[in-house]
Amino acid sequence: MIVDERMRTFINSLDKGNTPFLEELEQEALISSVPIIRREMQSFIKVLLAMNKPQQILEVGTAVGFSTLLMCEYGQPEAHITTIENYEKRISIAKENFRKAGKEQNITLLEGDAGEILKTLDGTFDMIFMDAAKGQYIHWLPDVVRLLAPEGILVSDNVLQEGELIESHYLVERRNRTIYKRMREYLYELKHHPQLLTTILPLGDGVSVSIKKKNSNCL
Ligand code: SAH
Ligand code: MG
Repeated sequence: MIVDERMRTFINSLDKGNTPFLEELEQEALISSVPIIRREMQSFIKVLLAMNKPQQILEVGTAVGFSTLLMCEYGQPEAHITTIENYEKRISIAKENFRKAGKEQNITLLEGDAGEILKTLDGTFDMIFMDAAKGQYIHWLPDVVRLLAPEGILVSDNVLQEGELIESHYLVERRNRTIYKRMREYLYELKHHPQLLTTILPLGDGVSVSIKKKNSNCL
């Protein structure tokens, strides 16, 4: 846990919630243990969307389409979201959810491994939301930076791993060590990348927001 549980509960208790469709989708996802963005992250993304007004959004990690549809609902009406997922079982549920929400026109779902797909993409995105395999973020970064528009923002979820990231290497369970090491490298890279300006926030499971500089010295 990163943020005190009572603080989190208090902040989330003030939240007005989402549209009935999204509320239902969130419940379904939680019941079936699909790891969707948390309440506090949802409101953070809504504010970012209102501030930055991205037209072209890229999401890495669709799951069943909850965050995709949240961005559709609370983003610009004409915004387009390209989203990537490789888990077949979730892909079919996501497609069905996009259809039920009547948002198929605004969403392109790319099926397959994000690492492979990112290489083939071009064009520029005003916002990129990274929410997939945490150990891969560092490997995907060069393509992600290439795909980001000048002044575009990169939002990465789950970057503090429930707080485990600040534990000693020795206390981290062996199976989590690779992710731990790669996530530390990822955050270092985000903070030292010549084209990015990054802030790391202890919100939800940890989130970073990076903006791509227009040139390497200033914004
Ligand atoms: N953004 C979603 C939750 C995504 S959960 C929401 O908040 O509603 C992370 C998803 O990333 C999982 O469904 C998982 O199958 C997918 N994923 C993990 N590694 C991937 C990869 N290499 N390529 C594509 N999708 C991947
Ligand atoms: Mg996440």
